Amino acid sequence: MAFVLELQISSNQNYIQNTIIAISREYGIKAKIYQTDEKIVCAFESEHEKLQECLDSITQKLPASLFLKSSSSYRIEDEPKTLTELHNPYPVNLGLCPSCQKEMLDVSSRRYYYPFSSCSCCGGNYSFLQAYPYERKNTSFKFITPCSSCSDEMQSVGLKEKHHLNSCHSCGVPVRLVNKTTERYANDAGSFRTLFEVAAKALNDNKKLLIKTTLGYRLFYQAQMINNSSVLMMINAGKITDHLSLITEEFNALLSIERPIINVTLKNEDLKTIYNTNTAYVKYPDDGFCILLGVELQKLGIDFVAYEDVDEDCDADILMDYDLEVNQQSDMRVFLNKDISFVAEGERVSFPALDFDAKSLVSVTDEYVGLPQGEQMFFDSLEHFDSINVDRANVLEGVDEKYHTNQHLFLPEEASFMSVIAENKAFGKKCIGAYFDEEPSFLYYDGKNVVRVVPPKKFDASKILDDIINLRDGSDRLIINLEKNMPEVYQKLEALQTRESVKLFEAVAIILGLEDESMRGVVKEAMKFVGKGGIQIDTHVTDNRFDHGAFLASIISYQLAGVSTSIMAYSIFESFRDYFNDILQELKGKTKATEIVLCGVDFANQSLFSRMQRNLKMTPPLINKNYPIGKENRVVGGVYL
Ligand SMILES: [Zn+2]
Ligand SMILES: [Zn+2]
Repeated sequence: MAFVLELQISSNQNYIQNTIIAISREYGIKAKIYQTDEKIVCAFESEHEKLQECLDSITQKLPASLFLKSSSSYRIEDEPKTLTELHNPYPVNLGLCPSCQKEMLDVSSRRYYYPFSSCSCCGGNYSFLQAYPYERKNTSFKFITPCSSCSDEMQSVGLKEKHHLNSCHSCGVPVRLVNKTTERYANDAGSFRTLFEVAAKALNDNKKLLIKTTLGYRLFYQAQMINNSSVLMMINAGKITDHLSLITEEFNALLSIERPIINVTLKNEDLKTIYNTNTAYVKYPDDGFCILLGVELQKLGIDFVAYEDVDEDCDADILMDYDLEVNQQSDMRVFLNKDISFVAEGERVSFPALDFDAKSLVSVTDEYVGLPQGEQMFFDSLEHFDSINVDRANVLEGVDEKYHTNQHLFLPEEASFMSVIAENKAFGKKCIGAYFDEEPSFLYYDGKNVVRVVPPKKFDASKILDDIINLRDGSDRLIINLEKNMPEVYQKLEALQTRESVKLFEAVAIILGLEDESMRGVVKEAMKFVGKGGIQIDTHVTDNRFDHGAFLASIISYQLAGVSTSIMAYSIFESFRDYFNDILQELKGKTKATEIVLCGVDFANQSLFSRMQRNLKMTPPLINKNYPIGKENRVVGGVYL
């Protein structure tokens, strides 16, 4: 007999599975543990005397995950014959698991206040990878020889088995803290503790602190000093809900091992004043450096701090760093509401990935590549690979390099669309879809090929004022009034005409008079509106294309009429929602498509997505599962073009 534990999981990564394998090995329990079709199946030998102890340990040590849904258990006849082997062919970047966090804060451990604490199932391991195969000699830890205790751990069962980056105070990486006049080093528990204590105090004294974390450079400062790119790091788990209004799903997501950034509603009135809005991008400390800094900040009575991802040249009052090469991935931002959660953007956690059936081709985008490895496709950063023999190369339009004599170019939104088809196994089905990344566009997939039915129209700001003037009779008065009544907006729009690659929502934010002149600014402004039903903004289609002039003219006229900016911002997305809905339904009728696909990072917007979900209740939209709905998914879709 075997006792079977089954976990529903919506991720294809194997860190959760590996955690269970590592623990079952630690207890010497024979088991068959594998991951398939959105579940992890763990069949343990049921007669083992330590089975209950092992299951309790799994409950304790298994991290909370964004992707874990539910679990069930049952018994089957088959008895597992061997221990399950750990399988970690590539590392990913995660937060720390409960065991590693505990060890880092345990005075008696070899890793007390050691910020590089991690195991084979957690931590910023991908950051240190330089080449494959994933072994210590191919990472930036290659010059650090593990001490005998670390080396023993790497060869013994448990969470540190095969942990190629294993290290501790006695064999590990020294860290320095440098300010304008002094420099201090840490290489043991005492000095590391002092280092973080000093850093936290400096932060408390309004200094800007640049830390090379295991997930790359981050600049920390007090929440009062935020700018539009800042993320609020909530460091005190017990007080998160004092400052933020969260639904349970948001709270759980923040503390999950993936430690994503999410956009949430603020509760703290001071923060609302500082942010001049009622929402913020928020994160809970993920890597060892952030966790230890957080512990010291808590001692000073601080519940949150602001930070932003930067590079090493960033200006700061104090620098905390070390001599190991780190490759930084863009952070994971997750969108969620009560009914759905998906990755909006970022590389972390989604990549690298081993997925789908192998094909004899490479898919190449700006920085990522997908190539066959064994029976599957492998997706990772271009720099980790040498040449490979395949039949063809599918390359994103705009990437200039020549990779293959048989090279095909693909379009960004077509690739994003195909990544959704691939992830949802919708090959052969007729699908209609919308793509939204600053510009809206529509695509159709007939079961074989994808085509753009309403192509994106690149926003051309060079004649923006003339475009509005020539829109229809009397439109010139709109611009005359704008110049007279809102001269600052007029001048900014005029200045846009001489600039290259201006985004549509930059113009929108300028017309609305927002300080954050971007899509992000408009989204934030829309979140301020709590009423129901906005006003109709012109989302017109002329010659089968979205009409930018009409859209902007419509916003200008409401602005001149004195409509509040938050109602305007909200109404813009409400109108977009109707626009997407109308065209999708129309195309669905015409093409007899059975599925609706949504992709593009700008769907990750509470004012837009939740309402679209309601409208599309009859045909719930297909979206990405393991990969972001944003541009990072192109390398996946590129395989199928
Ligand atoms: Zn761990
Ligand atoms: Zn060691």
